[in-house]
Amino acid sequence: MAQEIDALLQESRTFPPSEEFRKQANANDPEIWAKAKADREQYWADWAAELDWQTKWDRVLEWNPPDAKWFAGGKLNASYNCLDRHLATRGDKVALIWEGEPGEIRRVTYRELHAEVSKFANVLKSRGVASGDRVAIYMPLIVEAVVAMLACARIGAVHSVVFGGFSSDALKDRIQDAEAKLVITASSGYRRGTIVPLKKTTDAAVAECPTIEHVIVVRRRDEDEVAMQTDRDVWYHEAMANADANCEAVPLDSEHMLYMLYTSGSTGKPKGIVHTTGGYLTECYATCKWVFDLKENDIYWCTADIGWVTGHSYVVYGPLACGATVMIYEGAPDFPKKDRFWDIIERHKVTIFYTAPTAIRAFMKWGEALPRAHDMSSLRLLGTVGEPINPEAWIWYNQNIGGERCPIVDTWWQTETGGIMITPLPGLVATKPGSATKPFPGIDAEILDERGNRVEVGGGYLAITTPWPSMLRGIYGDPERFQEQYWSKWPGIYFTGDGAKRDEDGYFWLLGRVDDVINVAGHRIGTMEVESALVDHRSVAEAAVVGIQHEIKGTAIAAFVIVKESEREEAMRDPAKFEQELKAHVSEKIGAIARPEKILMTADLPKTRSGKIMRRLLRDIAEGRALGDVTTLADPSVVATLKEKYEEEN
Ligand code: ATP
Ligand code: MG
Repeated sequence: MAQEIDALLQESRTFPPSEEFRKQANANDPEIWAKAKADREQYWADWAAELDWQTKWDRVLEWNPPDAKWFAGGKLNASYNCLDRHLATRGDKVALIWEGEPGEIRRVTYRELHAEVSKFANVLKSRGVASGDRVAIYMPLIVEAVVAMLACARIGAVHSVVFGGFSSDALKDRIQDAEAKLVITASSGYRRGTIVPLKKTTDAAVAECPTIEHVIVVRRRDEDEVAMQTDRDVWYHEAMANADANCEAVPLDSEHMLYMLYTSGSTGKPKGIVHTTGGYLTECYATCKWVFDLKENDIYWCTADIGWVTGHSYVVYGPLACGATVMIYEGAPDFPKKDRFWDIIERHKVTIFYTAPTAIRAFMKWGEALPRAHDMSSLRLLGTVGEPINPEAWIWYNQNIGGERCPIVDTWWQTETGGIMITPLPGLVATKPGSATKPFPGIDAEILDERGNRVEVGGGYLAITTPWPSMLRGIYGDPERFQEQYWSKWPGIYFTGDGAKRDEDGYFWLLGRVDDVINVAGHRIGTMEVESALVDHRSVAEAAVVGIQHEIKGTAIAAFVIVKESEREEAMRDPAKFEQELKAHVSEKIGAIARPEKILMTADLPKTRSGKIMRRLLRDIAEGRALGDVTTLADPSVVATLKEKYEEEN
């Protein structure tokens, strides 16, 4: 059978869970995959039954592709499940530990969070927000941001969180698309020591958003002075002062819309993804229990901002539904120094740490002396999400952060999938660096070829072949794009847009976006394997590859490479020799076919605001084209510098 994407990289290291970890793991029955498969609906119904429902569902699943209804007829409330149901047993347990960038610390118990959310839900109601209304949230990562989300959920309002680093234009587009009635923001936020004027940005956006009736403003710093527009704007603390602390959580249909959220924009214009209540919460809850192995005493820290789906599922809904203690940190990992994360882990005795490969590669670039200076023995489990993790970055994470004692869960999922889909279960699955291993029990993932045939071993398209509880229910206001983007390649099967391969042991390895696959002399090469071969070189911290036009081969590979800080001087002594060395390294590691034609040393790569490499912009640069959609680009100066450098060298 023709393979759709070549499989080049061989990685043979394996890391079985320790006996000690296995014995205490929440998931420790090796038969759970088979059991889930035997009766998938019953399996998910068993998970759903661990939540609190006001009315039990009639049917587990109704499936009219591409429309799914999970737990139809059932009624529940997400805020109730994250708060009220813990009060009897965990009322005085800390729900959130917040640390501001300047260093303030605030601990909020479940009882306090419940009271604050109830009050704020009443504030929203008093400002005319009703069930089904959309509310935009544009905030720094502070306790009130979590309160805002849960208060919306409590009354059935739909939240649309917009990352606090986005521009007023991006905020405006998202408010207009959602036709939001109200915005919740803050007077300011901190980012790497500077003060971000969020209210000012909100004012600029709202000036062009006629649907907005009110703006609620959290005062981030006592000295903040912002212009308040009478009748429209209200201070959070003033509104809260007179609010009633009783607000019943409204029982909502399982399929009631919980939120909408835009994708990162790595591959094009962001899509407004819709998630509903019952199935979504079920999968967030189940994956938190089994993937993160959450226990009553854990201090759980997922470093994502609430502006991304990871912040929705694994900062707010999943861990709070489990009754966990959740660490949240407002600022940058390198403020005031590049060891801030390790300092936080040490001081708060964090036990579970979940972050992105982009962060791990930055830590690698900064060097291992920083984590070594901290006591991180409280850690017992590590996770990653967002991009493929290169095997060398995985090994670095394992050694320098996990002390070779913590299992690593490399979790593959998307804004669209709502929850984790492919992942190790840490007590059961021996991990391999760079592999997300196996589908979560109850999830049917496959590698398919163009025509939809199953690829048993080898590379192809990653597809999800049966509906799952936390799946997207649509693209907001655009049913055609929903159908076209995800359901048109093969009927009734979800197309992820990612390439992947499966090895002889049935492990899944993500190969990068299908849009980014490079076709060299008839070989279809995923970006992940070439980049991993480069990162495998001792001097390289990060790499991105794209296809460029080539007279003979048709297409060749161009590589953009970031050198580790400690190796920079050495590498730059003879750049031509260093380039040759890197090319030879790739040839040796994965084959001459993948040998880069061009290598460009750079200090930075264009990334989305969530830290993902935007290869499409690198392609635009390499082919001398005008840049595509850049609204989600984190730092425009990076592309400008690269463009200049590229043109200079070619
Ligand atoms: P857009 O869809 O707008 O291009 P995006 O795909 O970056 O943006 P997200 O939903 O934030 O938006 O990211 C999901 C994607 O991230 C996946 O499709 C996959 O490409 C990548 N990804 C996430 N986790 C992993 C992982 N563990 N391994 C490999 N890739 C991952
Ligand atoms: Mg995507």
